[in-house]
Order: sequence, then structure tokens, then C-alpha cells
Amino acid sequence: MTGRLHGVVAMDGPSGTGKSTVSRRLAASCDAAYLDTGAMYRALTLAVLRAGLDGSDPAAEAVALGAVADLQSVVDPIAPRILLVGKDVEAEIRGPEVTAAVSAVSAVPAVRAALVERQRLIVADAVAAGGIVVEGRDIGSVVVPDAPLKVYLTASEHIRAVRRGAQDRKAGRNGDVAAVLADVRRRDRLDSTRRTSPLHAAVDAVVLDTDELSVDAVLVELLRLVRERGLVS
Ligand code: C5P
Repeated sequence: MTGRLHGVVAMDGPSGTGKSTVSRRLAASCDAAYLDTGAMYRALTLAVLRAGLDGSDPAAEAVALGAVADLQSVVDPIAPRILLVGKDVEAEIRGPEVTAAVSAVSAVPAVRAALVERQRLIVADAVAAGGIVVEGRDIGSVVVPDAPLKVYLTASEHIRAVRRGAQDRKAGRNGDVAAVLADVRRRDRLDSTRRTSPLHAAVDAVVLDTDELSVDAVLVELLRLVRERGLVS
């Protein structure tokens, strides 16, 4: 045990950089909560698809906004989950349909505003009790701009596609690297060019390139950073 985390660690970066794995491990080793904000965008996207719409349908905004109240995030780093209308949708939100549509839904400004508000409430609750590691695309830049530690993980497209493919295969999904690479590129483009809160490193973020780093090595560096910033007791 490393000691207890106080405050917020903001973890941003594109998909396949290992954000979820290292964020969960960091939270678990510092007795902190863990929030996966991507799961929230994915769950709203699932609600849109269940309504028979695709992500870019003009009616998707109202459906997504209506579903915000139906979301519940379980912030345990050992078993993080997201519930939609009381049902665990963790497996469904990782499927190809949601992955294909999520960037369109997450580009809608009103959807982002509603989720950022929810995320700030979850963060405030967790900070009142201790600390939280929050992962996403806009955590250090928008959701918690005063976070005492912001980390931006990067890795080359190819490495990210290989990692995502392995994850997909492990979960029983198609993990063809060429297909995953195409999806990684498509989402990177959409997430970094949208008008509201595009993906970018906050100016005061520590940028970690994980191409040559194992999960353990990234964790060692994160633990060094939280200690250096005085965030663990
Ligand atoms: O992290 P994950 O791949 O699950 O995120 C799914 C999608 O949700 C991203 O591609 C992005 O479009 C959106 N997202 C976002 N802002 C966040 C987290 C995720 O726009 N904070």
C-alpha cells in the first residue's frame, strides 16, 4: 500500500494508451475511487442506439440527455461498473456498435455539458471522502482544470491498435489489428477535431509516452508523481 490519495488525478489521452489499466491500478494502490468518463459517454450512446437512432441523428441529443438521469457510475477501481436504468451495461458498451457511434454522441455540446456536471458531482463526493483517479479526454482541460496532478498518456497509433486488439480478443470480440487501427484513427480524428472540448493535453499536464513502457513502469512513474506532489498520506 502506497498511502491514501487525496484530491484528483486527471488521466487523459487517446484510446489504447493504457489509461484504464493504469488508472484503475493507481486508484486501487492508493485506496482511491476511479471514474471512467468514457463509460458514461458509451452508456448514453447505448441509450441512443436502443432508441433505434444512430449517433449523428438530430434526435440523438434529446435521447442522450434524457438518459443522463438513468446513469449510475460505480467508482470502485477493483470492479468499476456503469448502470443504465439500474442494469449493468459494462459488456454492451464495449461492443462495436457503441464504439462506432460514441464519438458522434460525445461531440454534442449539450451532452458534454450534462455529463461534465455529473462528473464534477461524482468527483466532489469522492474528494470529500479521499481521492479519485478520473480518466477521459477532457479531465485536466475541462472537468477538473484545477486537479493537482494531470497526466496525458500517449503512444503511437500502431501500439495503441495492437493493445486495443488484444483487449478485444480477450473479451471475446473481433480484435483484428487492421480494423482496430482504422477505428483508433477515426476516433482520434473525431475526438481531436470536435468543436467542444477536443482531445488535447492540458498545458500543465505531465505527458507520458507509453510506447516503450510496460503497465508496471507507467504505474511506478505515476506513484512517483503522486508522492512528489504530496497527494498521498
Ligand atoms: O475511453 P473510451 O474509449 O471508452 O471513450 C469512448 C469515447 O467517449 C471517446 O472516443 C470519446 O469520443 C468519448 N469521450 C469523451 N470525453 C471523455 C471520455 C470519453 O469525449 N472525457
